[in-house]
This record gives sequence, structure tokens and C-alpha cells, in this order.
Amino acid sequence: MRTKTRSHEWSVIEEGFHPARHKASESLFALGNGHMGQRANFEEKYSGESLKGSYLAGIYYPDKTRVGWWKNGYPEYFAKVLNSPNWIGIDVEVDGAELDLAKCPASDFLRVLNMKEGTLSRSFTAKMPDGKQLRVEALRFLSMANPAVGVVRYAVTALDDLRLKLVPYIDGDVRNEDSNYDEHFWNVLETEAAPGEGFLLAQTRKLDFRVGFAMRLELDGARLEPVCARTDLRTASAFEADLRKGATITLTKYVAVATSQDHPKDSIKAQAGAAASAAKGTGFDTLLAAHKAKWAEIWSHSDIVVEGDVEAQQGIRFNIFHLNQTYTGDDERLNIGPKGFTGEKYGGSTYWDTEAFCIPFFVSTAPSRVTRNLLIYRYKHLTMAIANARKLGFGGGAALYPMVTMNGEECHNEWEITFEEIHRNGAIAFAIHNYVRHTQDEAYLSEYGLEVLIGIARFWAQRATFSPDKGKYVILGVTGPNEYENNVNNNWYTNTIAGWCLEYAREALDIVERHWPARFRDIVARTRLDRAGESARWAKIAAEMYYPFDERLGVCLQQDGWLDKEPLLAADIPAGERPINQHWSWDRILRSPFIKQADTLMGLYLFEERYDFEFIKRHFDYYEPRTVHESSLSPCIHAVLAARLGDMEKAYELYLRTSRLDLDDYNHEVEEGLHITSMAGSWMAIVEGFGGKRVRDGKLFLHPQIHKNWRKYAFRLLLRGHPVEVTVTRDGVSIVYKGPEPVTINVYGVDYRAVPGKVLTVPGAEARNGQALMTAARG
Ligand code: BGC
Repeated sequence: MRTKTRSHEWSVIEEGFHPARHKASESLFALGNGHMGQRANFEEKYSGESLKGSYLAGIYYPDKTRVGWWKNGYPEYFAKVLNSPNWIGIDVEVDGAELDLAKCPASDFLRVLNMKEGTLSRSFTAKMPDGKQLRVEALRFLSMANPAVGVVRYAVTALDDLRLKLVPYIDGDVRNEDSNYDEHFWNVLETEAAPGEGFLLAQTRKLDFRVGFAMRLELDGARLEPVCARTDLRTASAFEADLRKGATITLTKYVAVATSQDHPKDSIKAQAGAAASAAKGTGFDTLLAAHKAKWAEIWSHSDIVVEGDVEAQQGIRFNIFHLNQTYTGDDERLNIGPKGFTGEKYGGSTYWDTEAFCIPFFVSTAPSRVTRNLLIYRYKHLTMAIANARKLGFGGGAALYPMVTMNGEECHNEWEITFEEIHRNGAIAFAIHNYVRHTQDEAYLSEYGLEVLIGIARFWAQRATFSPDKGKYVILGVTGPNEYENNVNNNWYTNTIAGWCLEYAREALDIVERHWPARFRDIVARTRLDRAGESARWAKIAAEMYYPFDERLGVCLQQDGWLDKEPLLAADIPAGERPINQHWSWDRILRSPFIKQADTLMGLYLFEERYDFEFIKRHFDYYEPRTVHESSLSPCIHAVLAARLGDMEKAYELYLRTSRLDLDDYNHEVEEGLHITSMAGSWMAIVEGFGGKRVRDGKLFLHPQIHKNWRKYAFRLLLRGHPVEVTVTRDGVSIVYKGPEPVTINVYGVDYRAVPGKVLTVPGAEARNGQALMTAARG
């Protein structure tokens, strides 16, 4: 179903108010600055369907798990980032009647998300029950320059003589829709109001997080005396006046937040108050200018330009915009929830999505400290990963990272995910490898990486068991990335990544032992590693791992028994029954042959250098028609593989699907929030897919192709911290490298010397369409 938004290169535009799509728009037009986020809820009251959402990074609640029948090993709680006090609210009354767009008809409604500048604006004309009309123009931003600050400017123009009352407030009476027991998660500890000022202090009922919001108000267009209004749950100031037809009042609400994450509890009030006063002192225009300057800087690093295809252009910018709104990489305690700050689903927790999807984006577009912070997040959770494995019966320092976590503990509540989706351990190890191969920062292994790899290798060494029947090591009772199968034996992807982890851990041991012998000795002592014995065991298991394969098809099988499934393709599913997860019983889905997301193909994507063209093509041709892509993480992987195989039409179709998944609401669920982590996949689809970008041992390989709908596309990478700008037209590729010294870049299998500041031009991009990636580029 298409949304009501209009395609535009830099903006998302909604013309006319569509109440039935309002919740979806609240997701699409959400704002964030890495530290807080806000769904595009209206400032004024709205009694129609809405998902109120205001989130503070790292402020969560351990909601008691809800399961039918408790089993040993279940996590105690399901963490959720809370819907926090509402700081954008402004009640509006006209002649004593409430402005509420669910009841007062709106005309000329326009909502614009300006992705270039990071602002949300909205304007409309409303007709009140007594027939009087007013025009509202609102603009808000969450400062990127000062992440503690959010600003709302709300201008009302009287289109008739009327009495206007504005009540800007901060409200602590908020709930999470996904609360397991319909509990309230907040205590409001303090509210305070003075003319044009307010403060609210709230506390989470568990874990005692404290958050303080201070507001400072400014009024333009009339001399009004503010009247304080507060209750125990909210702080507010009220302004009231008669407006003559044509008069405009502009209210600016400066809000600052301080939390116990960053400040001692007893200084929260002073911190928030000082920051709000400073924001008001700086003034709207200057704050906005600093915010826009930050966005200009972000875009100069991460923009992708697509010429000739506005839908594709808007799609990729929408994705890059939201990724940057969600994570800025300056705080290693924070991570990236699958919905970012745009909804409650997934609880704002960390999934394997970060390592498997987001790190490829950040490692190429952001300074290396950003990826390091994401990796260190897991390093800091190692002790808890070891405790998690112990809880499930593994010992000797084996680490099982949680599938879903906030603070390092497993906190999801479905056994088939927490106990079985153990492939996430592999993604965490692979991310370390990915970081090192991009940055060549092998010291990272000696500082943090190796210990994580040892814990992970130990887990696989215990989780894989020897099958006397097969004479091989097997991994039983797992869920692969394809969550439409549970409790399967020998999921090919899981076995593959487990074997790889065992090998990579051995390689990392050698590297650290060779280059950092003293640190190595410390690590061996700390982890009580049996250097020779454990490493030999890992080698044996990796060498004797079992991989299901069908000789007749020449295809690795997703798991044991895969061929017993009904031989149906996704195209056989009636259109009205898709997505199947909204139409079929879970039982039917589990028995079906339909694959939720890239599974075997995920393995081929990660380890492509092991396989030749024919092998990858055979698998793509077999698995793609069976995949329903009902996880947002799926089409991007298939898009990269399709481009790699030279199938530009398929790659383009899958690219549009991944990058416009939310804008076009493919899976009919955007109202729950956006798919933030898969947005990194859209970037992968262009840069790794169409651009054919690979980095091996710090060396950049490119193999650009161009789709017929595009005149040109351009992306920017960081190669060991130095910018590389790649522009692809039908005629060729031009590359500008901005590092200190010349480097070798491989384009279409040929090594070129890229001299800083000089344009390197390589002919032919359209001519390469349909050509598989060259062997050297797979390097
Ligand atoms: C996917 C998982 C993913 C999760 C969060 C699920 O639908 O199957 O792979 O980790 O969403 O994005």
C-alpha cells in the first residue's frame, strides 16, 4: 500500500490530514538526535488513534516477562525503553473549546520532514465547533548540536476574532502501550511552575532512573501574562488573550532534559534548568542554525546522491537520516534498537542487527571510534554473556551473548529466540573481523576483541556435539536467521558461522600472541585458556563440522529435513494472504517452506570469497523465490547478492523494497515504528550491491554497475579514516581519494594508484551491468 507521502529528494511530505494513516506518519516523521527521540505526535491534543512516543536513550524498564508456562532458563524480564514524559505538548483552546484535529476539521494540512536540516514542520487551518478558524504553523527540532535540548515553535494566526488559550506543558502521566501488565512505569517526584517556566522530575518505578525536564517559554506577537498551572503529574504555563482577525501569536518552547545516566541525581534539576535557560538565552534562530550546521556536516560524510530517480533518492536519504538520528556513536553505553526512537516494538533493545547490519554502515561512513564504541559495548557485556551461557548449562568461560539486551542480560521472552537463535554470537565475532579488515586496527584484538572471541569459541565448542551417526559435529535445536523455523537441527548458516568463529578465534590468538606477547599472557591467565588444547579442539570441530547439502540440487540445505517441505514458491501464495505473518497461524508458518529472511543466503553474503559465481547463483536462484522477506533485514542481503550476480533488475527491485520499506509500508506495520537497523541494509544495497564495494586487508575494491533508471549515483566512504568519493555515471567511475598518501584501489579487478586530490577515472559502468563481480574484487 502506498503512503500518502509525496516523493521528494530531501523531504518527506504529507499533504492533507489522513487520520487513518496518522500513526504511520507519526513514525515516518519522527525526530531524534542519538540521545532522545520523538514520534511525530501533535503538540495540541489529539483524541484520535495515536501512539505517543518520546524516548530517552538508555532509560528503560525491566518489565516482568509474560509467558504461559515458566521454564528454567527463561529471562526474568523484558526490557523496554520507556515512553518518557511528554515535553512537546501544547494545549490549545479557542473560545473555551479544545483544538483537536480528531474533532475539528483541518484544511491545507501539510507535514514536512526536512531531512537536510533535521526539522519537522506542520501547518493547517482548523475550523472550531463554533465555526471560527485559525491557522497553525509548527516547527520542531531535537538539537544535534546540543543533544539535551528540544525546541518547538508554535504559531497561531486568528482567521476570525477569537479568544485563544495556549497551555504548553510537560506531562509525566504517560504509559507504554506494550506494558505487559498494564503498569505505570513512572513516578512523578516533583513538578514546579513559574511564569514562563516549568520543571518536572520523574523516576522509573524500577531501577530508579531519574529524568528531569525543564522548559522555558517565549511569546511573540502579544503582551501576555503567563499563568502558572501545575498538577502533581504535569507542569504547565497558560497564556490567554483575545486575538483580532489576522493577528499571530508565536510561542517558542525550549526544553532541556537531564538524566541520572549523565548526572548525579541531586543535580538533575539544576542541570536541566540551566540548559533550558541557556537555550532560551541563545534563541531559536541561533539554536536552529547550529542544528542545521551539524546536519550539513553529517550529510557531507554520509550522503548518497542518486540522479534520475527521485524515489530511490528519497529512499536512501530517508534511511541515512534516520540512522544518524538514532546513533551518533559518542557514548559506548548506547546502542541501536531495531525501531530506534520511533516506536515501542523490540523495546529499544540491542539485537544482532547492530553487528550484522549497522556495523557495515558505520565502519565505512563514520570515524572508527563509532564502530569501536559499538564493539566495546559487547566487550563490556562479556561477563554477563558468560553468566548467560552458564545459566543454560555451559561452563569454562563459554559466552552466549543475548539475542535481545539492554544491559548485557538476555531480556526477551520467547524461548525459541533466546535459547535457540544462537547465531547472534557469530555476528558479534564477524563484526570484530569486519572492523579489523576495514581499519587494520589489530591492536583492538589485543585490547578487547580476543577475549570476546575466546568466550564465543568456547560456546560453540560446547554447543556443537559429535554425531556418531554422521561422524561429524552437529548443532542441534536452533533457530537460524529465518525465524519461520524453530528448533531445527544443523541450520547451515549457524553451522557455517560457528565453524568460522572457531577458526577466527584461533587466528586472533596467533595475531595477539605474535604482536602483543605480554597482553597475550595476561589474556591467557585471565581467561584460564588452555592455549594448545582448546585451540586444537576448536580446529578439530571446525574441520569436522557437518553442513547439510543436496548433491542433486547442488545446494546447501537450510537445515536437516529441509527437502521434506512442500515444494512451493512465494509466488504461489495468494496476494491477499501476504504478509503471511498477518494472515496465517504460527503453526502453518512453521510448517511452510517459506523463508522469512535471508538465511542460507546470509551465509553466502558473509563468506562470499569461499564460493564461485555458479555456486552463489545456484543458491540465489533456489532460495530467493522461496523467501517472503517478512523481516526488514532480508531484501538488502538479497539485493547485494543479486547485484553481485549482475542481475540489476532484481537488485533494483530489492533495493527499492529495502529503502522504501517504511515510506511505502510494504509490511503494513509502519505505525509501530520504523525499521531502523534495516536502513543500514539499504546503504549496503547501494554501496556493496551496485557499487560492488569490498574492503579486504584494508584495501578497497569497487565494481560499480548502474541501473538504467539512474543517470548517476555517488557515495562516500572512509578508508582508514580518509574520505573516498565515488561517482558512478553510465560512462564510468570517478574516484577522489583525500588521504595523506597514495593508495591502491582496485576497480573492476584492476589495481589503480589513487593519488590524493586527483580524480581517478575508470571507464565503463553501464557496460559492466550484468557482469559478475570479478574474482579479484572478492579478494
Ligand atoms: C528478525 C530478526 C531481527 C528482529 C529485530 C525480527 O523480525 O527476524 O532477525 O533481529 O526482527 O529487527
